[in-house]
Amino acid sequence: MSKPVSVLTVPAFKDNYLWLVHDGHNAAVVDPGDAAPILAALQELGLVLTAILLTHHHADHIGGVPALLERFQVPVFGPRHDGIAAVTVPLGEGDRIEVPGLRLPLRVLDVPGHTRGHIAYVRDDGGEPWLFCGDTLFAGGCGRLFEGTPAQMAASLDKLAALPEATKVFCAHEYTLSNLRFASAVEPGNAALRARVAADTATRERGQPTVPSTIAVERATNPFLRYREPEIAAHLRAAGKLHGGEAPVAVFAALREWKNNF
Ligand code: ZN
Ligand code: FE
Repeated sequence: MSKPVSVLTVPAFKDNYLWLVHDGHNAAVVDPGDAAPILAALQELGLVLTAILLTHHHADHIGGVPALLERFQVPVFGPRHDGIAAVTVPLGEGDRIEVPGLRLPLRVLDVPGHTRGHIAYVRDDGGEPWLFCGDTLFAGGCGRLFEGTPAQMAASLDKLAALPEATKVFCAHEYTLSNLRFASAVEPGNAALRARVAADTATRERGQPTVPSTIAVERATNPFLRYREPEIAAHLRAAGKLHGGEAPVAVFAALREWKNNF
């Protein structure tokens, strides 16, 4: 008997999270940068791998694919335009898939910025709403702009911010406290942010993940979704990080640039 689908957090490397979506019988993995912890979790829970889902081409998100394919001959879903040779089902904006073995429908969004072809997966079938966003939106922050422009990343994040507030945000790294230190520097007057710092600090002190967060929490506290807030532009200006260019995308670009060196 299969249970309702749920998401298991599988830590990997120093600060990555791999996501194992399963029903107690079959499982799909999102962004398996390393095969070993996934194989261990599958064995421990008695799960069969039925699909691999990828968000972008970086090694810490795809490195485990060959070893998983040796054990399980499963389809590899992934971005059409991110240069991943292992992808067997190329995807882009507006595509809908049903995850094999789980009868789980997911919708695909293009979210360029971190990489040129980065995609995200959204669950909006009436069950608990989920977002698997790789290195685009992080808890309290966003990914670096390795291949895209600030305008592209800002548009990608705006798209994610428009998802239902209850949406759980399964991002790929535990960067939260460092992100929130930066957020606090650029928006010190945000009471929701102060409350989040306290809550997430306590979570980390217990050794637990701060991920997933929710779209509601990100909209209330993440400066990269809040770059239109006057207080953020004012703090950038006061810190000498913004000179005249007041267009929202200029504020976003200055925020991302400051965070790179924070
Ligand atoms: Zn990445
Ligand atoms: Fe990554």
